[in-house]
Amino acid sequence: MEAIKNQYIPKKIKIIEVKEETKDVKTFKFQFLSQEENRFNFKPGNFNLLSKLGAGEAAFSLTSDSEEGNYFENTIRKVGRVTSTIFNMKVGDILGFRGPFGNGWPLSKAVGMDLVLIAGGLGLAPLRPVIYHISKHRSFYGSVDILYGARTPMDMIYTNEFKLWQEIPDVKLELTVDVVPNGVSWKHNVGVVTTLFKNIRAKPDSSVVMMCGPEIMMKFASELLLRMEFPKENVYVSLERRMRCGVTKCGHCQIGPKFVCRDGPVFSLAEIWPLPDVIE
Ligand SMILES: Cc1cc2nc3c(=O)[nH]c(=O)nc-3n(C[C@H](O)[C@H](O)[C@H](O)COP(=O)(O)OP(=O)(O)OC[C@H]3O[C@@H](n4cnc5c(N)ncnc54)[C@H](O)[C@@H]3O)c2cc1C
Repeated sequence: MEAIKNQYIPKKIKIIEVKEETKDVKTFKFQFLSQEENRFNFKPGNFNLLSKLGAGEAAFSLTSDSEEGNYFENTIRKVGRVTSTIFNMKVGDILGFRGPFGNGWPLSKAVGMDLVLIAGGLGLAPLRPVIYHISKHRSFYGSVDILYGARTPMDMIYTNEFKLWQEIPDVKLELTVDVVPNGVSWKHNVGVVTTLFKNIRAKPDSSVVMMCGPEIMMKFASELLLRMEFPKENVYVSLERRMRCGVTKCGHCQIGPKFVCRDGPVFSLAEIWPLPDVIE
């Protein structure tokens, strides 16, 4: 008899690599302990829950190549109980995994269109699988503009991959930071991410926008995109509301009638505009 698959029971995974991105952000590479679970696939924009007994469970965007299968990655910022516990873990340590969850980015809808990817800080994590996907299926899409902003140059993640991304045909990567500390060299833009919007090549009526970052950034960026006449139906945001159960039972991630875990995390502005204000 086949065992009943219970989505509340975590599967065991082990850390196989840890990369320091910034002083409070690390990217962890994982594999399932059970060989049967490997060949794991997900959709760009999906997320998973990681748990550690005694610390709790938290949601993280799947950030590796979704077609890779032999491993997956999460990029984690240390903010509280669960994330600090994981932050101190090493290669070989074991965690619990549930997922993948969520609807993912609208990549099928975007076929034949230009793409604009907009990220703030750690918001680049759920967009990285989109960039892997574009590089593998380049002919599916038109021009690709990636606009990435962070507080300072030292807060940028995946910096060692920027050169590779720029080598993908017709992909333009634009970088900006809020502040350049004294003594730090920076050759790109200074200002909030919306200051890069004048460089967007995509035409509003034939492009899909995918955006993730702090909610306050997404609010101002969405307002500007709407003024630039990008249709609400083609502007997508990934919301990282506080989440607990991941399966619509607890209500922590609810926004009006929508649950981020069930209906999201990716929503078009047509579904959720005006964006709810920043998390309290
Ligand atoms: C769909 C989704 C995807 C996510 N992807 C990532 C990711 O790729 N990388 C990553 O580092 N984090 C991600 N998060 C956020 C992550 O889940 C939280 O940072 C985590 O739950 C914090 O757990 P903790 O126990 O360490 O913090 P807690 O001890 O619960 O809280 C510590 C502090 O962080 C604040 N906080 C907790 N959760 C959030 C949140 N969601 N947004 C803003 N502030 C919060 C609390 O108010 C408190 O001030 C994602 C969340 C969701 C819902």
